[in-house]
Amino acid sequence: MSIAYAGFTITRVPMLTDNYAWLVGHDGASAFIDPADAAVAIEAVDRQGGKLDYVLLTHHHDDHIAGAAALAARFGAALVGNAADAARLPALDMAMNDNESIAFGGSTLKMITTPGHTSGHVTYLFGDAIAACGDTLFSLGCGRMFEGTPEIFHTSLHRLATLAPDTMLLCGHEYTLANARFARSVDPDNEALMARARVVEKLRAAGEATIPTRLADELLTNPFLRAQTPEEFARLRAAKDRF
Ligand code: ZN
Ligand code: FE
Repeated sequence: MSIAYAGFTITRVPMLTDNYAWLVGHDGASAFIDPADAAVAIEAVDRQGGKLDYVLLTHHHDDHIAGAAALAARFGAALVGNAADAARLPALDMAMNDNESIAFGGSTLKMITTPGHTSGHVTYLFGDAIAACGDTLFSLGCGRMFEGTPEIFHTSLHRLATLAPDTMLLCGHEYTLANARFARSVDPDNEALMARARVVEKLRAAGEATIPTRLADELLTNPFLRAQTPEEFARLRAAKDRF
């Protein structure tokens, strides 16, 4: 599946059980995000022209990095990740720091830190159109808080919340249906959420993906993104863990 958006080509690459990896292109530049399975990733790149400049890693979990070295080697791509977490990532060709950006085709590729799921988790921004946010933000949910505090995670979500509303979010997992059940339980009077939940149920019943999702839609419906304080976020995260 490929979609054209704001001059970019976005290809969703399902892998493992419910992971999404992503291939993003712009004016001949290309980047693959979070390749857990090298064989699946290589096939996807071959289908899109067989050229790859960057392999981008959002965080150190195996279901996001296991295929990275083999994929990068196959196409001579540069392996890119958070400099601050390099010790837990495969050997990086380019270690980036918070707010650092590079040219990407006719656009830009910028890394911002979004810790909370893990302490070294980052998000990659393509121009002002796309955010590859890994396991920080899901549609109608967010990642588990393995290595953060509510303050840290809330700050990261706020950082994503203040991106351009039309930003397309490339999330790391298809968890939306389960997330919708929890979201409805904590925000039952939210009509935008009810409408989104109905769309999600239809899509999943038909075996279709719910991601990418638009930031503006998440701002209306995602309880974690809507949490006003770290305390509110902490209550939601703890409730979801027990849900
Ligand atoms: Zn993870
Ligand atoms: Fe994951």
